[in-house]
Amino acid sequence: MNERIERALADLKDRQTAGEWMPCPRCGRDTMKPNLHTNALSRHVQGIYICDECGTAEAMLDFMNNPLPTEMWAMFRVPRPESDLKALPGTEVWKRIAIEHGPILIDLYKRWTREAPGASFTPYRWEAFKRCPGLTEIWEQPFQAKYSVADGELILRLRHTEEGVEIAADLLEHGK
Ligand SMILES: [Zn+2]
Repeated sequence: MNERIERALADLKDRQTAGEWMPCPRCGRDTMKPNLHTNALSRHVQGIYICDECGTAEAMLDFMNNPLPTEMWAMFRVPRPESDLKALPGTEVWKRIAIEHGPILIDLYKRWTREAPGASFTPYRWEAFKRCPGLTEIWEQPFQAKYSVADGELILRLRHTEEGVEIAADLLEHGK
């Protein structure tokens, strides 16, 4: 388990113990009973309560020797804020994200390219999805961002030039 997950689980345990209401950390649904101790204790994460259905699912998966990795719990899934970009044509989306997401992506790209070799891209991916609603995918090598739009896929490519970071946008239209 990596450090980010360990920290998040310790924090979750504190919040559960303090009586804070929250969705089930394993499935992310609103299925926790109000009295914390009447929920199921996770078999895999000590001291963490999950909903009854997840408790049963853990027991089943254990029986089949196929436990769900803790990093697949709902609480660790990358957040994907709602966005209406999918309904708009690529040219319209590009106009908007050039202003709204362009500076964010450039900042991420600059920080990422300063990272040591072998650094994890995961925190950058998290940040990108959180700060850029409507983003569909992001890759580090080469650094590209994809947005699904009404008429296809909008691909943004970032690179360093002498004038600074440049973003090139390409619209790959459906059926072409
Ligand atoms: Zn659950």
